[in-house]
Amino acid sequence: MTSKAERRFRANLLEWGEENRREYPWRELNRTLYEVFVAEFFLTQTPADNVAAVYPVFLERFPTLDAIAEASEDELVEVIEPLGFQNMRAGALKQIASAHDRLPTGPEPLMELPRVGRYVANATFCFARGDRLPILDRNVERVYSRVFRDAWPEAEADQLTFTQRLMPDKARPYNLALLDFGALVCQTEPLCEQCFANEYCVYYQESTRRS
Ligand code: SF4
Repeated sequence: MTSKAERRFRANLLEWGEENRREYPWRELNRTLYEVFVAEFFLTQTPADNVAAVYPVFLERFPTLDAIAEASEDELVEVIEPLGFQNMRAGALKQIASAHDRLPTGPEPLMELPRVGRYVANATFCFARGDRLPILDRNVERVYSRVFRDAWPEAEADQLTFTQRLMPDKARPYNLALLDFGALVCQTEPLCEQCFANEYCVYYQESTRRS
C-alpha cells in the first residue's frame, strides 16, 4: 500500500517530468529495442551528453546486431573510443552479436548477456516498450533514500520491490522523470529550495529542523 507522501511524489514527479524532460535521440518514441539497448549499454558509467555525441555515428555504422557481428573489434573500438571503456564495450558487443541474431524478448534473458545488468535490461524494455519495470541506479537510489528516508530499505532486492511498488502504470514517463529529477534537482548537492517534494521529503525536513 502506498502512503500519502508516496502518492504525492508519484503525481508530482510525473507532472514535473512533463515540463522538464531532457531530450536525447534514444528517447524518441519510434526507437527500436536495439537502438534503446545501445544507448542504455553506453550510458552505464558515461554522461548522457558524451553518449549523445557518439550515438548517431554508432547507429549509422552499426544499425543492427548483424552489422556488429560482421565488423571487426577494431572498427567498434574506433567508434566507441570517445566514451571510454572501448575495449571492454567492443568486446562485449561482439560477443553478444556473434551469439544472437536479435536481442532477447525480455529483461531476464537480456541481463544474462555480457556486461548487461538489471539496470540496462529494465531500462531497455521500459523505454523501448513501456514495460512496467523498476530502474534502480545510484541516482534513483539517492532520490528515494532522501525523500522516503525512513522507509527506504537497505537490501537491493527490497529496494527493487519498493521501486516497483511506487511505479505507476505510466512507467516510461515516470522512470524518465526519475532519471531527470536525479540529474537536475536531487543531485549530489540537492536544489531543495526549488524542489516540489520539499514539503514531505524526509531529508529536507530533517535538515531544516537541524539548522
Ligand atoms: S527536497 Fe531536496 S533532498 Fe528532497 S527530493 Fe527535493 S532536492 Fe532531493
